[in-house]
Amino acid sequence: MNKQLVIALGGNALGNTPDEQKQAVLIAASHIVSLVKDGYKIVIVHGNGPQVGMINLAFELAYKENSNVAAMPFAECSAMSQGYIGFHLQNALQNMFLEQGMTTHVSTAITQVIVDQNDPAFQNPTKPVGLFYSEETAKEIGQERGYTFIEDSGRGFRRVVPSPEPVDIKEKGTIRCLMENGDVVIACGGGGIPVYREDGMLRSVDAVIDKDKAAAKLADVINADTFIVLTAVPRVAVNFGKPDQKWLDRITVDEANRYIEEGHFAPGSMLPKVEAAIKFVKSGPGREAIITSLENAYNAVTEDNGTIICSE
Ligand code: ADP
Ligand code: MG
Repeated sequence: MNKQLVIALGGNALGNTPDEQKQAVLIAASHIVSLVKDGYKIVIVHGNGPQVGMINLAFELAYKENSNVAAMPFAECSAMSQGYIGFHLQNALQNMFLEQGMTTHVSTAITQVIVDQNDPAFQNPTKPVGLFYSEETAKEIGQERGYTFIEDSGRGFRRVVPSPEPVDIKEKGTIRCLMENGDVVIACGGGGIPVYREDGMLRSVDAVIDKDKAAAKLADVINADTFIVLTAVPRVAVNFGKPDQKWLDRITVDEANRYIEEGHFAPGSMLPKVEAAIKFVKSGPGREAIITSLENAYNAVTEDNGTIICSE
């Protein structure tokens, strides 16, 4: 049975413009193609911070210029970013498969991630999105559209949205089916589009789900073997950035938890990745997580050359 991998790819690794992104996905694709050639079945989850920011900003600016332009909900901006990034990744990977005479197909699943309406995150929105406004304008927009604004470190007022926990992945069956069919699947982009259940229906909500948490949840519900987080560093370190920094090789969940308690991982960057990795490893027997860089992805999978988190 071929091993099934869910790979989380950082959104900052994708550049800031369509041209930059087209170049960046070529690099990402070249590392992933070697794994596909070796027979691994792969789902890619990409970040979307800069991209959804750009889409949201474009609509905000257009709305400011011309009130005939519709206010675009954040959930819709997330959906657009899944299409935009998915298209580039899909195109780059597909071209590489064609070039190498491979018959592998690539598909992008617009993915809805189910969240709990009673998640405490909805009472305490924390994730800043969009432009900075004066207090007055922020109040106006807030009243008009029901947005929450907070003062952002002296730079003005900025909208914040909640960051709830992923509970389930709506399209998991489709994703699993495509993967088993041998497709490389791009799914849960930007952490997925948050939806909650109401009267048996799914309703979207303006929120941002952490991409690494959503990827770990996806890896769990499609029963993947390995969850891989690709970021800017080849390994996770203790005493990161200090003279006694030490890169970690293979660590158990217990060791990882101890390092968390000791404060080795920065909140908002490495901490959510390690937490997502632990959650996946604990979610079923024989599951492993790897944290490494894009350049090192192939070696990390084939030669255990990255930080591996295992149950014991
Ligand atoms: P991404 O865009 O992939 O989500 P982030 O910048 O959010 O990347 O998080 C990865 C970064 O976390 C690394 O590039 C590194 O600078 C930083 N970092 C913080 N603590 C650690 C640590 N203990 N070990 C390694 N990297 C760390
Ligand atoms: Mg990040």
